[in-house]
Amino acid sequence: MTSSSASTRKTAVVTGASSGIGAAAARALARDGYEVVIGARRVDRLTELAEQIGGRAMYLDVTDAASVERFAATLERVDVLVNNAGGAKGLATVSEANLDDWRWMWETNVVGTLRITKALLPALIASGDGLIVTITSIAALEVYDNGAGYTSAKHAQGVLHRTLRGELLGSPVRLTEICPGMVETEFSLVRFDGDTDRADQVYQGLTPLTADDVAEVIAFAASRPPHVNLDQIVLKPRDQADARRNVRTG
Ligand code: NAP
Repeated sequence: MTSSSASTRKTAVVTGASSGIGAAAARALARDGYEVVIGARRVDRLTELAEQIGGRAMYLDVTDAASVERFAATLERVDVLVNNAGGAKGLATVSEANLDDWRWMWETNVVGTLRITKALLPALIASGDGLIVTITSIAALEVYDNGAGYTSAKHAQGVLHRTLRGELLGSPVRLTEICPGMVETEFSLVRFDGDTDRADQVYQGLTPLTADDVAEVIAFAASRPPHVNLDQIVLKPRDQADARRNVRTG
């Protein structure tokens, strides 16, 4: 764990930074000069990343109020919050929905985002030029069969984020929602409970986005001047038209 003068350098907090988009965002923001504080449950991975980028790694479980409280209590300054922790569990029709999977998705994507945002909002406002980036998904804008657990959670997460945009008018905080299509990360591995064959099939026959593609957009949003708010950015691979149609499915 590396620590430095968090009160003098601009600080970016990235949740879910132990893999995928969060890890790439942490690298991009560190490259741009931020003191980066990264949180997730797999601390071994976080520590390795923090050593590489000169950031600070901390255990964080966004579904646990005490963990969020402990995490927030160590932060003297927060200029950027990237609400990235999240994911999907399973692909099932509503009639066959697994309630535990739904609870996981809602707790992580929706209530988790609410917990960490509430906890860090005072510091973001105090920074004088705060930015909240929330990684929702095209699943926050569309629905697809067998996906209601995830699409409903991502819609709710998007609504939470977009509501803040109005509620914070007059406060020095910008809000950017990023809605990616298919990105090759551990997302499908988590969704299919560690089934690598099934996860690999998701990306076969097309070129998905990489975590770095999304991280560059996050860093770009953070680099805008205080009066410029990028409200919502949708990015998809060229091979994907929407959540249901890609070059493979036609
Ligand atoms: P990923 O590689 O599976 O990363 C998910 C991250 O979330 C991991 O670092 C994981 O860390 C963290 N996380 C999960 N539960 C957590 C919890 N309770 N507390 C703290 N951290 C937690 O997948 P990804 O694609 O980078 O996903 C990042 C975000 O992008 C998610 O919100 C996802 O819904 C969204 N997204 C992904 C895609 C895609 O196609 N990949 C598309 C659109 C949107 P630990 O397990 O170590 O805690």
